[in-house]
Amino acid sequence: IEALIDDKTKAIFFETLTNPSIDVADIAAITAIAKKHGILTIVDNTVATPVLCRPLEHGVDVVVHSASKYTTGQGLAIGGIMVERHGLVDFIKGNARYPQFNEADESYHGLVYVDVPLPLFTLRARLSLLRDLGAVVSPFNSWLFIQGIETLSLRMREHSRNAQIVAEFLESHPMVKKVNYPGLKSNSNYANAQRYFENGMSSGLLSFEVESFEKAKQIVDATKLFSLVVNIGDSKSIITHPASTTHQQLSNEELVACGVPSGLIRLSIGLEASSDLIDDLAQAFGA
Ligand SMILES: *Cc1c(COP(=O)(O)O)cnc(C)c1O
Repeated sequence: IEALIDDKTKAIFFETLTNPSIDVADIAAITAIAKKHGILTIVDNTVATPVLCRPLEHGVDVVVHSASKYTTGQGLAIGGIMVERHGLVDFIKGNARYPQFNEADESYHGLVYVDVPLPLFTLRARLSLLRDLGAVVSPFNSWLFIQGIETLSLRMREHSRNAQIVAEFLESHPMVKKVNYPGLKSNSNYANAQRYFENGMSSGLLSFEVESFEKAKQIVDATKLFSLVVNIGDSKSIITHPASTTHQQLSNEELVACGVPSGLIRLSIGLEASSDLIDDLAQAFGA
């Protein structure tokens, strides 16, 4: 990461838990590099959610979430959440990397954002981005998000518990080449998950690899309990074959380069009984 930084770098943007390769970022290592170079860190915490991971406590400046996933757990509404740390203005003020916050905004009567005593990123997102682009959440969708947040902590614990059980089943299955789930002791992300996630709970997203594109498609089509859709974070379990759906525009070499081999299957584990999910996967493997 450090080798890629130059005069034009505005931010280091990363995910706490990446989708679909399911890696856990070393947050402290990334924020240390950013501080050394006076650069902002922005992290997408959608998959971990604030229940499992609180990046501000590890030195991140701005946290963003897609609220369209675990927030309602029902895929009901599209929205986003942005949270910034206290005192971000002191870091941005006079920092040559950020003229858009330090110079007068002509479209807002010469307002200089660092001079306003309000949360800086949130203010600018509201005053210019949302005003210009109109991507404002409707009152009804906001209400759905608020309802969903009430049960988020309970659901995230159960998603994590269920995913752990399914991951262990997959790891023991002869047709599975590799399982990507940070809750597994054998996983290279296990130490980071223990360090950054509440009690090492690793959310509901996992992926696993079977021998071929065709075999992966066959398994996905044979499941009965899983919904075959590209969303994640739903209370109902979801199965996706990235190489034939979300990533189908990539060549085989590009798929491997971005950590999505053609035999990779992604699961978003829901709140059903784990034994039912395992039975469904077992029959799909045999199909
Ligand atoms: C879905 C998703 C997004 C995009 O969010 P939308 O609410 O669909 O616009 C961004 N980041 C992650 C990690 C996601 O899963």
